[in-house]
Amino acid sequence: MNNTKLIIFSAPSGAGKTTIVRHLLETNPDLTFSVSATTRPRRDYEVEGKDYYFLTKEDFEQKIENKEFAEYEQVYQGTYYGTLKSEIERVRAEGKNLIFDVDVEGGLRLKKRYKEDSLAIFVKVSSVEVLKERLEKRNTESEAKRAERIAKAVKELLYEKLFDVVVENDKLEDALAKAQKLYDEFTGKK
Ligand code: ADP
Ligand code: 5GP
Repeated sequence: MNNTKLIIFSAPSGAGKTTIVRHLLETNPDLTFSVSATTRPRRDYEVEGKDYYFLTKEDFEQKIENKEFAEYEQVYQGTYYGTLKSEIERVRAEGKNLIFDVDVEGGLRLKKRYKEDSLAIFVKVSSVEVLKERLEKRNTESEAKRAERIAKAVKELLYEKLFDVVVENDKLEDALAKAQKLYDEFTGKK
């Protein structure tokens, strides 16, 4: 691998990783988002090719067969998410660092693959109640889908220790400052 660094953000749904990742992207021009592929429906505010590559299940499974993914998973039943190898190559060619918003299993898989070139960050909140509240407020899933996310989150909270570092996101300002500090340190800026 060239000098590209990989910054991996993982957390239970609702912990705030998308918020933190978006912020880092705005403040660090040397950073590019790794756009994942997914088979879930697009939310109104999402843009194809910017937030995700939205694929049909058939297309996704074809790409699995062609070994086009660096990692992939059925994060929720029947819904695939994955990082395309071509996406990592695209950003490497630009000479930029990559930031990932992936689930806990995917994050650990990327860490295993890219080792010291990667920093795996776990975003944590103080309780499952907080996650529930945030997901209700975000209001992007049906009640059943939200319940599935919460059930998965309870299991994911146990993965914290397997990550390089933890960012607590109770107060957003503190979480953003810590994330920036970790990025600067890891990329040798400070
Ligand atoms: P994730 O990507 O981990 O699922 P999001 O970044 O979408 O989480 O955050 C879930 C919801 O919680 C969003 O509506 C977001 O605006 C809100 N949120 C994020 N961080 C905080 C925070 N520290 N305090 C309160 N609300 C937050
Ligand atoms: P959402 O549907 O809220 O955008 O994402 C649901 C979950 O899928 C989040 O935990 C998100 O981080 C994860 N996710 C997004 N892209 C990928 C990916 O490429 N691989 C894996 N393993 N998980 C992903």
